Amino acid sequence: MKKVAILGSTGSIGLQALSVISSNPRRVKAAVLTCKSRVDVLRSQIKRFRPEAVVVERRQDALELRREYRDLKVYYGPEGLEEAAGAVDYDVLLNALVGIAGLRPTLAAIKRGGVTIALANKETLVTGGRIVMGAASEADVPIVPVDSEHSAIFQCLVGNLDNPIRRILLTASGGPFRGYDRARLEAVTLSDALIHPVWRMGRKITIDSATLINKGFEVIEAKWLFDVDASSIEVAIHPQGIVHSLVEFEDGALLAQLGDSDMRVPISYAFSWPDRWAIDSRSVDIIAMRSLYFEEPVGEARRSLDMAYRVVREIEESEGDSSAVVLNSADEELVELFLAGKIPFVAILDTMSEVLDKHIPRKIESIEDIMDIDLEARAAVRERWR
Ligand code: NAD
Ligand code: MG
Repeated sequence: MKKVAILGSTGSIGLQALSVISSNPRRVKAAVLTCKSRVDVLRSQIKRFRPEAVVVERRQDALELRREYRDLKVYYGPEGLEEAAGAVDYDVLLNALVGIAGLRPTLAAIKRGGVTIALANKETLVTGGRIVMGAASEADVPIVPVDSEHSAIFQCLVGNLDNPIRRILLTASGGPFRGYDRARLEAVTLSDALIHPVWRMGRKITIDSATLINKGFEVIEAKWLFDVDASSIEVAIHPQGIVHSLVEFEDGALLAQLGDSDMRVPISYAFSWPDRWAIDSRSVDIIAMRSLYFEEPVGEARRSLDMAYRVVREIEESEGDSSAVVLNSADEELVELFLAGKIPFVAILDTMSEVLDKHIPRKIESIEDIMDIDLEARAAVRERWR
């Protein structure tokens, strides 16, 4: 029986992870569940899944839960996430938090050792890639990606770990505004941006998919996970969402992973790896589909990608890792402003690019450095939109 700690169990990935657990009750059990604000959802999860520990955001909620469930370990706040990741007994930590809040809990799980990290929280690698991958390799803690593209590549690499990669091809749906020019983007609304053509996800990643910065983050994520230079990572727009990504080896062989757009597949694989478990996923009918198509990202679609590639070049040429934190944290702040109706859609990338232009890249030495740059980037955004 594998024990899983699910950080962010009330979110989109978290709920789908619990559905995977429900499909395999004899193989996997929830040991830790956490939420930020949806404490009532967490309560129903406690009844159903009987975890050993939970983490909530507010102390008041923690005190109430302690009174209600005498045998439950209840932690609270950002430190509570780290404490639970470091203390409770589990085999796999699924990090399904959103934003840079996921970074320290990932490191706490690595420090604890003897576990596997199922990583949905891409911000962990965007902001702390060098430190996190270094720590994981030193502690011999495997990181199994849950992001569908990276899971696809990870699956293609099984049995090929010693074979050099010639190229990684990340696929992208293109989001709701595929093919839009600047004038059309200036007119889009919040509700337009919250409708994703392929995936149902949390609000932050849905907006990141609309600006395509999500794919930019995924280029950085792939760089760290698979130890490849940005010059070997390409992006192809694939609106059908069937080919989840591809790897090319030195003999020219391209391996891909295909399937329905169902996040339970990569979640289940991260739990079961190196095995596979049965889940009630839909089979893809390739005959009905007739063809698969791909496009080059051009025009507005290139803007986010260009920013991400520029950041990766700074990392590769001068160890200027700080730019990646700026990209992440300016985006977190801007998406929040956009979700609150305070800035137009196009302001997200416009401001991000301004903030990035003003930043002088430097090498990151510690987590404290990352947190400082995070605050700087957020302050620069707020200064602009005061
Ligand atoms: P979500 O917003 O639906 O859920 C986030 C979860 O984390 C919730 O349980 C929330 O309570 C908790 N949380 C959020 N901020 C927190 C904080 N500061 N402290 C403590 N808890 C906090 O997000 P999601 O769509 O499930 O995405 C989770 C992560 O997975 C993100 O990094 C996202 O990029 C990545 N991801 C998601 C999908 C998807 O299909 N949803 C696909 C690929 C990657
Ligand atoms: Mg993805």
